[in-house]
Amino acid sequence: MRILVTGGAGYIGSVIVEELLRAGHTPIVYDSFLTGHRAAVPAEVAIVAGDIRDTALLTRTLAEERIEAVIHLVGLIEVGLSVTNPAAFFETNVGGTMSVVRAMIETDVKRLVFSSSAAVYAEDAPLPLREDAPTGPTSAYGASKLMVEQLLGWVAPAHGLICTSLRYFNAAGATARNGEAHAPETHLMPLVLRAAERDESVSIFGTDYPTVDGTCVRDYIHVRDLASAHLLALELSAPGVTIYNVGSGTGYSVRQVIEMARAVTGRALPISERPRRGGDQYATVATSERITRELGWRPQQSDLRTLLATAWAWRQAHPNGYAE
Ligand code: UDP
Repeated sequence: MRILVTGGAGYIGSVIVEELLRAGHTPIVYDSFLTGHRAAVPAEVAIVAGDIRDTALLTRTLAEERIEAVIHLVGLIEVGLSVTNPAAFFETNVGGTMSVVRAMIETDVKRLVFSSSAAVYAEDAPLPLREDAPTGPTSAYGASKLMVEQLLGWVAPAHGLICTSLRYFNAAGATARNGEAHAPETHLMPLVLRAAERDESVSIFGTDYPTVDGTCVRDYIHVRDLASAHLLALELSAPGVTIYNVGSGTGYSVRQVIEMARAVTGRALPISERPRRGGDQYATVATSERITRELGWRPQQSDLRTLLATAWAWRQAHPNGYAE
């Protein structure tokens, strides 16, 4: 299939592109390169540099590249930033997706895989989270993802779109080629590994949550396992919106992540306890039974040691990230 990957130069997108190539698909990357990296895109993959809200460019790209499906990853992702600048999240995440959908309608492209988030769930939803658990985002980031699912719910049946919304839990880990290099970095695992590299301390945001050790619990999913869910979602054929969690099913606290990072890196990693970070849910753990049952998806590399070891190996091999 010829597949447009918006955000294909980013962390998750670059690994999806790797997996698409491996499976014999033809990915085309659409990216603004504001945060994506050209070096993350293999030389044989066509690139369109543009903003997601440029509907005319998207429409032209879908037509000229004879696109059959869109994997739409572009979006703002930092939960903390969404508390201080929510408008930007609605503009890029909701407005940007509407632009993609409009271009798809114009060009009769029917298949869309959308990157949603565990951040859509209500904080008091029972764990592990099922797709039918109550929603109630605690951040504008989560709200923007939920709004997209809702708008797709109206648009997809009206236009015969086949949409899959994958609710990502916490992407982590690396392949040999691609890893996590955000600037600024806000995510726990890369910050912990950076602290290990520099022999610095690592901050824990909140130590009084109602969890096993007072720190937030997250379900970390290896980026390659996450990528494989997208490839399976491309096979769906039922019009409408199908929602799947994509998580490992196991939760780890911030302290447990740091403990394993000490074991993997051999570094001391002293801790600095800080106040809670705005917008954080205290615990998110998925059950991904639905995607396992319906699409046969199973995580292969999402145990805590492999997540940290693959990310650590990538950082050691790429000390400057994607910089030349
Ligand atoms: N976190 C932390 N120290 C850091 C970065 C993150 O304690 O330096 C915590 C954060 O407050 C959250 C968890 O680690 O409870 C996971 O945060 P991350 O930003 O990686 O992912 P999120 O779940 O927010 O998407």
